[in-house]
Amino acid sequence: MSSERLIYLPLGGAGEIGMNAYVYGYGKPGKERLILVDLGVTFPDMDSSPGVDLILPDISWLKDRKNQLEAIFITHAHEDHVGAVAHFWQDLGAPVYARAFTANIARRKMEEMGHPGRVVQTVSAWPAKTEAGPFSVGFLPISHSIPESSGLVLDCPEGRLIHTGDFKLDETPIVGEAFDPVLWKEVSAPGVKALICDSTNVFSRHAGRSEVTVGPEIEKLVSEAKGMVVATTFASNVARVKTLALAGEKAGRSICLLGRAMRRMVEAAVESGVLDDFPTVINSE
Ligand SMILES: [Zn+2]
Repeated sequence: MSSERLIYLPLGGAGEIGMNAYVYGYGKPGKERLILVDLGVTFPDMDSSPGVDLILPDISWLKDRKNQLEAIFITHAHEDHVGAVAHFWQDLGAPVYARAFTANIARRKMEEMGHPGRVVQTVSAWPAKTEAGPFSVGFLPISHSIPESSGLVLDCPEGRLIHTGDFKLDETPIVGEAFDPVLWKEVSAPGVKALICDSTNVFSRHAGRSEVTVGPEIEKLVSEAKGMVVATTFASNVARVKTLALAGEKAGRSICLLGRAMRRMVEAAVESGVLDDFPTVINSE
């Protein structure tokens, strides 16, 4: 029997919402070569953590083994998956891999904290693979409420693992890739040793509705409204921002994006090519 072993260690995110950080390792006990999947933050709430701005995962276990860490892979650009990369990059010092949109967001975060943006490397989607020690890692597109979300196909000497990342099975997501059941079936065909999967609404009995069903209702609301229409949404939900902007354009209105995160997300989506027909916006001043 091989004395090598495969390990999985969530430093955050398993069984909770927020601060996702998952370590996978393979090798002799204590000498495993490691990869980290996601490095996010979580947001406090008034009931349990009043006065706290941001909560970061405890990465001390990984920090003590930073010389075993091959790479960091980011599945998507939600704060609870990418938000702590710039905070901890200096402690870990490993290359960061993500697809174009996520990499764009991660680079902005790195540069804001005075780190070199170039440590974040852009990778292509499956079937492209990145080698990281005993792991070969592919980014498998999956629809979610942010563009270019990916599950990870992790091949190692023990077999194939699939880490789904966050997802919303949407075949018409407006922005970003549709869920492709054929592709997922194909990737699973050789056999999957473990599926690592987490879903916020797993206990809901209702199927999620596609983003494409939201547009007509929003168009109706915007066209019938008198005066200025103000809408709020997560800035990272680029598809929803686009749906709102298109509804405004259709109603003959001027569109204005308010807030730094909103402008940054749309900018990153245009720069990375996931958004190409966003209506012209006017300056808020
Ligand atoms: Zn997410």
